[in-house]
Amino acid sequence: MKLTEIFNKDRLSLSFEVFPPKTDSNFDSVKHATEEIAKLSPSFMSVTYGAGGGTSKYTLEIAKNIKEVYGVPTLAHLTCVSSTKETVRERIAQIKDAGIENIMALRGDLTPELAASDRSGWDYKHAIDLIHEINASDADFCIGGACYPEIHPESTNQKEDIKYLKEKVDAGCSFLTTQMFFDNNLLYNFLYKIREAGITVPIIPGIMPITNANQVDRAIKLSGSFMPQRFKSLVDKFGGSPDAMKQAGIAYATDQIIDLFANGIKNVHVYSMNKPDVARKIVDNLSHIIS
Ligand code: FAD
Repeated sequence: MKLTEIFNKDRLSLSFEVFPPKTDSNFDSVKHATEEIAKLSPSFMSVTYGAGGGTSKYTLEIAKNIKEVYGVPTLAHLTCVSSTKETVRERIAQIKDAGIENIMALRGDLTPELAASDRSGWDYKHAIDLIHEINASDADFCIGGACYPEIHPESTNQKEDIKYLKEKVDAGCSFLTTQMFFDNNLLYNFLYKIREAGITVPIIPGIMPITNANQVDRAIKLSGSFMPQRFKSLVDKFGGSPDAMKQAGIAYATDQIIDLFANGIKNVHVYSMNKPDVARKIVDNLSHIIS
């Protein structure tokens, strides 16, 4: 199923992101975790992709299993940074052969080494180049892209970031998923600006439940997200107690999701970090809200 069919329905729904194992040795435990999340019947599940391509085989195996065994529509992530045309075309063909109809087209993060290297000869410099490549394939994919309510860290300003985002959408993105954020007002402000810029595709907010204090620094480093005082107080108060922090983090994420639904958002994507217990708790918290 193409995800646009889900986004076009007039119902509220939750979806989850999972990541593939890095090695064979933890394949079974990751597969089990993703299956437990699939049993919660999310509207869809996305499976991330290691930018260097190391986990690409597992991305497909996990996505295919979720789709075929649990009937959950899947979104396979694909990155293009520093990849050759040959590799990317092969990956696109594999996604098609696996019967997956949705691709999240990403550039991938630049490691410090990649950022410092000579990029002039690269086949793909931005996600838009990957979107063109997917469009040129013989399959009819529903393509998603990433967007950044708080600006992509490499952008000099939001106007420029939105200009490139519009080009990405015009190239063939049917929806956009956001980077995590912890203050919904940032999302509402972003939505206003992108709608004004003529971007009309569905925007799927990405919510990260922070369930332990160690996650906080990593999440900020990765996303550059602003931490509201309300969230900082919660970490200050409960960060030292794992059970309390988990409960408070799930409550905070639930509260963000309810506010998004109340303000007209129809699908929220949860960065579940392969934690079925956290995903289940959020679904339970919303049992009378999502249908
Ligand atoms: P782009 O759209 O190419 O944008 C990157 C930067 O380049 C931005 O500053 C943009 O403004 C600028 N830009 C865009 N187009 C142009 C242009 N034509 N000319 C000049 N500048 C331009 N990473 C992974 O490795 N694997 C994953 O599975 C993964 N999943 C993700 C899922 C989501 C929802 C998000 C938000 C991010 C994900 N990432 C993943 C991280 C992502 O790869 C990084 O954030 C990366 O730095 C940018 O990817 P992008 O696709 O947004 O790039």
